[in-house]
Amino acid sequence: MNAHDSEKMMGLLREEGYDPVGDPGEADLIVFNTCSIREKAEQKFYSQLGCTRRLKERNPLLKIAVAGCIAQQEGVRIREKAPHVDYIIGPQNIGRVGEAVARSEGGVLTEDNPGIVSADLPAERRNHVKAWVNIMYGCNNFCSYCVVPYTRGRERSRPVEKVLAEIRGLAGSGYREVTLLGQNVNSYRGEVSFPGLLRLVNDVEGLERIRFVTSHPKDLGEDLVAAMRDLEKVCEHIHLPLQSGSDRILRLMNRGYTYAEYRTKVERLRRAVPGIAITTDIIAGFPGETEADHRATVSALGEIGFDGIFAFKFSPRPMTRASEMEGQLPEGIKSERLSEILRLQDDITEKKNRALEGSVQEVLLEGPSGSDPGTATGRTRTNKIVNIPLSGDIVPGMLLQVKITKGHRHSLEGTVIVTDHR
Ligand code: SF4
Repeated sequence: MNAHDSEKMMGLLREEGYDPVGDPGEADLIVFNTCSIREKAEQKFYSQLGCTRRLKERNPLLKIAVAGCIAQQEGVRIREKAPHVDYIIGPQNIGRVGEAVARSEGGVLTEDNPGIVSADLPAERRNHVKAWVNIMYGCNNFCSYCVVPYTRGRERSRPVEKVLAEIRGLAGSGYREVTLLGQNVNSYRGEVSFPGLLRLVNDVEGLERIRFVTSHPKDLGEDLVAAMRDLEKVCEHIHLPLQSGSDRILRLMNRGYTYAEYRTKVERLRRAVPGIAITTDIIAGFPGETEADHRATVSALGEIGFDGIFAFKFSPRPMTRASEMEGQLPEGIKSERLSEILRLQDDITEKKNRALEGSVQEVLLEGPSGSDPGTATGRTRTNKIVNIPLSGDIVPGMLLQVKITKGHRHSLEGTVIVTDHR
């Protein structure tokens, strides 16, 4: 969500006549697009923001903008720590970045903005094969650890026609994959439900793949399972955040499902969509988490066998209920539990990737690998990274049939057996 917000701010600033520069020392404007989902991200931001003070002393015309969730959460308080900040722009107001930077006196834009759903904001996308498309903004769920409902506001769905027009435009200009974005896509309420929207997007000509993120387990219904089963462009992957394997902790988190309900939904998905990859999020060391609660999470990981997880230590966030709960755990315990979770999952992921050796996978080629110039990289429909030897007859955007020769912990290796020239 944040990365796509940055693409939109880039697009808007281009329209205002700004061009990106490689060195902050050459910039007339520096925009921080911030995330406050964890404390660490916030600390990193403040340390980088501090570095811009010297740049501004050297170049008094330099303007500094802070956008995103920290801007919303802290508002003008940011200036107490960093008086050199000129503009403060919350995530609901990023569409007004051009208007903000046109005011030489600086400004604060953190008000509620229901108009966000109808704005057609230009986005400067770095990837020319796959694109993010917002279908909704905000969240009504108030999970007890999460700051998003306070920073991004209440749920608002984009009208169907706006979403479809954007996707048709992307497909027409060569994009082959879209990822529909929302904090909880299952509660999309445009003129149709989320599965209804998937059916309409599936009909967009030229588009090859559809992904979506994030799907809340409590709202995942049979209609979504059926849409994933029936729609050929919807990829066989779902990110379904579990957060904990303990019902007691899930209740404290206000997640709205039990582990058994979650597992039943996973079973349904696996029955309906053979080979589906399931990834998840886990929080280690939630307040009051006992060793038995932690063991329940470890056992859930073993039982479900996720394709991948994002796991983090619990991080108390301002305004949230969990930050004030009793039983906050010492960092040492949180770290130990996180390490155990990550070690276990690494083994599971590696085994799953090894099991793909010898299989043939459809890979959408994205471009040269960032780490190895002799290698090109793409993803399977199940969202696994595949590296293949770079050759002259493959170009980004091609759908390739690739034989998997090696499964690693975080990626696959393969050789192209069929090149597509569509
Ligand atoms: S569903 Fe829960 S975790 Fe996700 S954004 Fe909403 S409040 Fe946060």
